[in-house]
Amino acid sequence: MTKTCGICGNKISWYKLKFKDGAMCEKCLIKYKFGTKWKIKSTAMVAWCKDHSIETIKELINEGKNANDINTSDYTLKNQLKEIDKKQASLQENNASFNLSDELAKDTVDKINKLDLPTEFKQALITAKIFDIFAVKKELVFLPQIINLNNEKIIYACSGSLNGHTWLIVCTNQKIIFVNKNLLYGMQEKDIPLNAINAINYTQGAVLGSLSITNGANNFIIENVNKMAARIMAKKIQETQLNVLKVKSTNSSNTNYDELRKLKSLLDDGIITEDEFTAKKKQILNI
Ligand SMILES: [Zn+2]
Repeated sequence: MTKTCGICGNKISWYKLKFKDGAMCEKCLIKYKFGTKWKIKSTAMVAWCKDHSIETIKELINEGKNANDINTSDYTLKNQLKEIDKKQASLQENNASFNLSDELAKDTVDKINKLDLPTEFKQALITAKIFDIFAVKKELVFLPQIINLNNEKIIYACSGSLNGHTWLIVCTNQKIIFVNKNLLYGMQEKDIPLNAINAINYTQGAVLGSLSITNGANNFIIENVNKMAARIMAKKIQETQLNVLKVKSTNSSNTNYDELRKLKSLLDDGIITEDEFTAKKKQILNI
């Protein structure tokens, strides 16, 4: 690694921005708008620089451009994915203690098999390893009316009390579903899409715990949840949210590139002009 600025050639003593093959001094990085005296403008920009050479920057500067002309949207996505991977890894580490005892698992399988449910629903509940179904059997039987297993997956379920009633709480790969059946209101159902959940927390008492789900301005506190189920539900919601986010980030990145490739072939075939290609490319990449 050189000890001089790849742009102005001055000696670098501290706070430099690193590139694939060199670095930039503080003066230059401020001059070309890569950041301030204290901070590079974004982590995506830091990642972009590590991936590009000083020569690329020189060309940019020669064209009278600066860091504001650099599109780092793909690096923002890459950074998001990296963050998601990190969070997933840390959740994984905490999962080791979640295995049910064989006895408890067998007992639950027997209970689920006795429910008046289609086989695929029984199988889905057994696969999800739910065990806390004591007071919510009539709600479980209602699930085929609200979940289509062809396009939705049951991740976890447990019971808890909300507004003085016992509810079945189901986490699917799309949403959290609350189901309650009582004499006064009949069957009640509420959904919160996973991407609308801002925060999920749990507390654990001696036997029971609680779950707190924040959705925009609303905060649902679900009490009297089996303490192990509360912990598993909170983790499962976090994991599922991360998976959804990951798929979304990857898709939006891929969609951009697919579109650009199509555009490039239109240019190669002479269907659109170089100017039209450049304009459209800028639009797609948000430059
Ligand atoms: Zn410099």
